[in-house]
Amino acid sequence: MAGVIAKGRFVLGEEVHAFEQEFAAYCQVRFGVGVGNGTDALHLALRAVGVGVGDEVITVSHTAVATVAAIEMAGATPVLVDIDPVFYTLDPGRLESAIGRRTKAVIAVHLYGQPVDLDAVQEITRRHGIKLIEDCAQAHGARWSGRRVGSFGDAACFSFYPTKNLGALGDGGMVVTNDEATAERLRLLRQYGWAERDVSSLAGFNSRLDELQAAVLRVKLRDLDKDNAERNRKALVYSEAFQGSGLTLPSPRPHGEHAFHLYVVRAAHRDSLRGSLREKGVEARVHYPVPIHAQPAYKRLAARPLPETERAAREVLSLPMYPELDAEDQAKVIAAVVRSSR
Ligand SMILES: *Cc1c(COP(=O)(O)O)cnc(C)c1O
Repeated sequence: MAGVIAKGRFVLGEEVHAFEQEFAAYCQVRFGVGVGNGTDALHLALRAVGVGVGDEVITVSHTAVATVAAIEMAGATPVLVDIDPVFYTLDPGRLESAIGRRTKAVIAVHLYGQPVDLDAVQEITRRHGIKLIEDCAQAHGARWSGRRVGSFGDAACFSFYPTKNLGALGDGGMVVTNDEATAERLRLLRQYGWAERDVSSLAGFNSRLDELQAAVLRVKLRDLDKDNAERNRKALVYSEAFQGSGLTLPSPRPHGEHAFHLYVVRAAHRDSLRGSLREKGVEARVHYPVPIHAQPAYKRLAARPLPETERAAREVLSLPMYPELDAEDQAKVIAAVVRSSR
């Protein structure tokens, strides 16, 4: 950070350039384009692959509101489909039946750090000739069939919000892609459509990653694999301790490598469990309590029944999960959960 300040260049400089290359390489992808945050990454990626007004983009309602907001920022219409009840991600069977004449793209969200079934989803998007965008905001470093998430879609979007698996000291985001033309369009879109200074060759935006954040992220990237391994160890400790507790535990997909952004259990009595944990000093959160199609701003998108999404919203609970969670604190959480679920 001192080096950046001494140089005096604060936006889109050497640190951003180096971090784009390093993070793209980490994701096993050719190009990375740093942007202001994860929502912008999704918005600009959609535009860069050709999504616009009149198009439909299919995604899930059980996600961060940003996924759906980005579709509308691109001028397109979100079409919300249900999730698979075991993995909490896009149900490929339901995806197929939601595809229509105006469908231009699918956003696959690797929710909680769990990769979507990319074989099934990619088979469908290829057969229908529609674009695949990966929302990797919760899944930095996760793998599907041995390859990093982010390397499957036409473009893939990351957030570096401080609480993510790779977090900045503020906002940040990136789009990665193997397609050179898409990367080039993204570089224009993030800065007023400038190919050269002061000449807008297309109508763009302002969404840039700054140098201080890039400098921090380059250092933190070195620890990402170690941190994810630590998250996986913690998840295993939880899952072993909760055998026979009556809770439904996370099911890592057989062909995937989970990044455990969140450790999410399911309980029919979720709200009383959460209350009882709070009394014991354990703060558990809910991702997400209100599905997008039930939010005041997005009720208009409620087109089809989404029973698994609504059941998940009533039953899921996220237990404390971060690489620095020490054994003693985790044991306290486990004891509180076990006592509360009896
Ligand atoms: C955090 C998140 C985003 C948005 O990222 P921001 O950097 O906060 O804009 C998008 N999608 C998912 C699934 C997220 O968890």
